[in-house]
Amino acid sequence: MSATTPPAGSSIFSRIIRGEVPSHRVYEDDRVVAFLDVGPLSRGHMLVVPREEQARLEDLSEESAAALGRVLPRLARALMKATGCTAYNILINNGKDAGQVVLHVHAHIIPKSSDGRGLTKEWRSSKLDPAEGAALANELRGALAGSAAPSTSA
Ligand code: 5GP
Repeated sequence: MSATTPPAGSSIFSRIIRGEVPSHRVYEDDRVVAFLDVGPLSRGHMLVVPREEQARLEDLSEESAAALGRVLPRLARALMKATGCTAYNILINNGKDAGQVVLHVHAHIIPKSSDGRGLTKEWRSSKLDPAEGAALANELRGALAGSAAPSTSA
């Protein structure tokens, strides 16, 4: 651990998970906890957080990542039923440049409300050049072949 690395289990979300900081809890199982975001973009905006404290998604164990993904459809259905929303975004920010503030992996589920509240995004698409696409996909397949999954961690 470097001098700037916070101690394990010290994130605000770990403190919420342990019940040291209050939250409006919506769901929990042995790997994941969901609670309402304290600064919602729209009514029902919730955070789904693995108990395993990793700052970034790529460092999360496959087990925690699977648990996170597994519960999303169920939470989304509950959100739609409870708020009446018919559209929503799911967002995981990774890294400060991507807008991440809390350095403990979390998925936002953000309803799009009828008055337009929710996630607003700038989607500046370009056009994928076929040759560049082929080369890049090849590079990615190579990177995947050499990558091991992070080890299991509860
Ligand atoms: P990020 O930008 O890291 O993806 O988003 C962090 C989110 O955590 C923000 O939407 C912020 O409102 C939420 N948040 C930060 N601190 C707390 C807290 O103490 N309690 C709850 N419930 N949400 C928090």
